[in-house]
Parts: sequence; structure tokens; C-alpha cells
Amino acid sequence: MAARSTEVTLDNTTQFNLFLQNTTLVHGEWTSQPPDIIGNFGTWRSESDGVLTGTEGFASYAIHDPDDVEIGVLQVHWDNPFAGANSYDQSVSPQGGAEGFSLFHLGGKGNDASVTFRLFKGDCKINQDTGEISCSAAQPLTVSGTQSAWRFCAKCHGLFFDGFPAKGVCPGGGGHAAAGLTFLLLHDVPPRKGYEIGFHFCEKCSLMFRPATGLGPAPGDPGVCPKGSGHNAQGFRFVLQLSNPGGQGQDDWARCGKCKAIFWDGEADKGRCAAGGAHTRAHTLQGAPETALKLPFLP
Ligand SMILES: [Zn+2]
Ligand SMILES: [Zn+2]
Ligand SMILES: [Zn+2]
Repeated sequence: MAARSTEVTLDNTTQFNLFLQNTTLVHGEWTSQPPDIIGNFGTWRSESDGVLTGTEGFASYAIHDPDDVEIGVLQVHWDNPFAGANSYDQSVSPQGGAEGFSLFHLGGKGNDASVTFRLFKGDCKINQDTGEISCSAAQPLTVSGTQSAWRFCAKCHGLFFDGFPAKGVCPGGGGHAAAGLTFLLLHDVPPRKGYEIGFHFCEKCSLMFRPATGLGPAPGDPGVCPKGSGHNAQGFRFVLQLSNPGGQGQDDWARCGKCKAIFWDGEADKGRCAAGGAHTRAHTLQGAPETALKLPFLP
């Protein structure tokens, strides 16, 4: 157990994704690193690594709009010294106003500290005594929206997030290779008829996946990630539409029962699976193939 540790949570109440720009650890060592992408929230942790030392670091993130254009940047700083009180500061640009953001921190006392930085759209103020945050414009209670830049990979036939310069890890070797349509996917909305919840971005391989449900023989099974062991969910909670005769979108997307990733099942070639061979559509507990998914796409 290290003498000093700080767990940092970055709570993102905006509808925008955050992309890691820089991290600096001035003192100590990482227990877990800041994630590359943050949807709703991200957490990381650093701790002291010597006698009579503390831990201190910085992380900065770019704020991207749904078209993946950078519209702001934020930085958070945590300092948990061996002697003296912990301190935190944060900055966001543009700050306040209709186009800007507000960023605060809450908590963070003690040797084994836990601090939350919370990002808002617009002009907000915090009461330092009570922690109450008030905003000039109404803030949504839940963060919901859509995210584009989801693509079909021509090598593995999986559905992957193409919003990064790095293209994840493909079971077909190297990074994923985008082809065809650009999909626009719904996230963080209440469950609705004709849709299925529980889909996530894997921060290791960039594929969309859905763990095994709580009903199956291996509840929560995170599948097989091409980067090794299971997929690791990060950011938004996606809600995907089940196939239906009407409506807009591309049919024949399905979940692979072996690797748990989402792949296109609309042709004879089923791509490459991280669990070996080609993807194979998952089955229900009753043994029937899972209902296919229909993904809306940009015109
Ligand atoms: Zn791929
Ligand atoms: Zn993965
Ligand atoms: Zn598979």
C-alpha cells in the first residue's frame, strides 16, 4: 500500500467525447492510466512510489463535437503531497457562455484521496461550501445523443470506432480499415421497444461489443479482444436497433458468440474473429440465432 494515492474521476455531463491529449506524472507512478477516450466518465489512479513522497499529475483532453471537430480543451491537475494538504485545479477553454464549458472538482481529501472533476456545457457555478452546482441554462439530466464515425472494417468485418488517428487492433492484423457507410449510433437513452441495450466501445481494440447477458452460462463474459484477454468497455452506453422491415439503416449486423464483437453478417465471408476463424452469430439461451441489428447511417 503506497503512502499516498489519488483516484481521479472525470465526469462528463456534456454530449461530447473527450480525447486524451497529454498526461504528465510529476510525482509517483500510475496504478491505472487516463483513458484515451471519455464518454460519460473516465477514471485513473496514481500513487507514491518512494519513501516520504506523494503523487502529482496532469491530464488534458480535447473536446470533440459529434462531427469530430475539436471545440475545446480541458486540463486537470491533482497533487497529493507527502506533507501538507491536497490541492486540485482545473481549466477549460472556451470557458462559460453559450459556446463554452464549466469544469469543477469535488472531494479529494485525505492520504488515499478520491477526486471528481465534472465538466458541464455552458455557464455554471459551484458553491464551494455545499458542492451545489447551478447553471444558467438547463442541463440535461442524462447525457444522451448519437455518435458517428462508426465504420465497417474490411479486414475483420467488425464495427469499429474510426474517430482516432490510431485504428485500434484488428483480428486481421494491424489496425482496422474503414470501408463503406458511416454509422450514427444512439447512446445513453432509456430502453425502448425494438432496441437492445448493453453495447460498448472497447478501448483496447476499438470494436463495438456486448458482453454476455446476466442470464447466460457466463454472465458478463467480456469476450475475446484482439489485443489480448477480454474487451474493456469505455465511455458511452450504446443502444442499437433490432432488425425490422421498415425504417432507415443497414440490416444484418449481429453479435459474434465467440468474441462478443458486433460484425456484419450479411455475406458469406464472416471476416476474422479474435477467438479464431471467422465470426459466428451468437445464439439465444433457447438456441435460436440472436436477432440481427439494423444500424442507421449518414446520408
Ligand atoms: Zn478490423
Ligand atoms: Zn477489444
Ligand atoms: Zn468473433
